[in-house]
Amino acid sequence: MASRTRVSFFLDDMAPYATGVPGREDEWCPIDGDALIEVREYMKARGLAGAMSVIPGMCGLLTRPKDAHERKFAEALGRLGDYPMDPHMEIMTHGALFDFSKMVLTEDGSTEMDWLDDHTISVAACRDYFLGTIKVGRELGVHYTGFSTPGTHPDMNPNVWTAFLELAEAGEFPNEVVPVFATVEEGTIPMAPRSKAVRGRFGVYDVASGVWDYIASWRNSPDWVNVDHYLDAEGNGFLADLIKAESPMALFHMHWQGLNPQTGLGWKAFQEMIDRLMSQFGDRILWQRPSEIAAAFHRAR
Ligand SMILES: [Zn+2]
Repeated sequence: MASRTRVSFFLDDMAPYATGVPGREDEWCPIDGDALIEVREYMKARGLAGAMSVIPGMCGLLTRPKDAHERKFAEALGRLGDYPMDPHMEIMTHGALFDFSKMVLTEDGSTEMDWLDDHTISVAACRDYFLGTIKVGRELGVHYTGFSTPGTHPDMNPNVWTAFLELAEAGEFPNEVVPVFATVEEGTIPMAPRSKAVRGRFGVYDVASGVWDYIASWRNSPDWVNVDHYLDAEGNGFLADLIKAESPMALFHMHWQGLNPQTGLGWKAFQEMIDRLMSQFGDRILWQRPSEIAAAFHRAR
């Protein structure tokens, strides 16, 4: 019997605001909490499982909502635990480094993206920063199970992996095995989680995306909407190829700017892609959250 491919996704940049809205491309436009509720209900109704980034400091601080709009969105985020969705930190701000001692953004131009690639940052400094984010998440009712990097990081500081292992061992994650999404490796077949830091029952796994975002992407552009890129009517495409090859896993990633049902140009395309995937390959795939996929591979070691 053919073995089923574990399928999942990462939804990045989730926040109560999004850029890329047609006519207002560079502005941060409010996205209502109802958009998030619609997405999570759709995922549940279709039996999908994946991870969603919750970025508490992307636009202000969600633990201190400045109006009813932000409060509603923060409350919707706090209920993600009732759905088959892993909340991922995409660290604290997705932009400037955060000063947890003062609970403000730093202003010296340093960014989380550069910081992740700086190999001189110690394990302890990484651990402190991630733990700071984990604690803010808990205030929102969010219990982070993994990490999605802001931007892609093929040469990430190795101390990041060790820091996550130590946090898992200290019980700061709900699970013993922590998935990390740091790279996109389209065209690689087969794909499986890669162990990066392991001690006994604890582990940190590199879980890459296998398909670039053609659900309008972070640009929210019609040029980046292409369901055939995943799978076409004949069952070909980057996602289809992974499943047909019986790859252990097939993951894709998307962005809130393009996916959200309020302003995203990719919401209909996403549903069409899911319709195709389930009708063509529904009996050959198994939807799991990234944390479940990483844990299954850790157990199989
Ligand atoms: Zn991002």
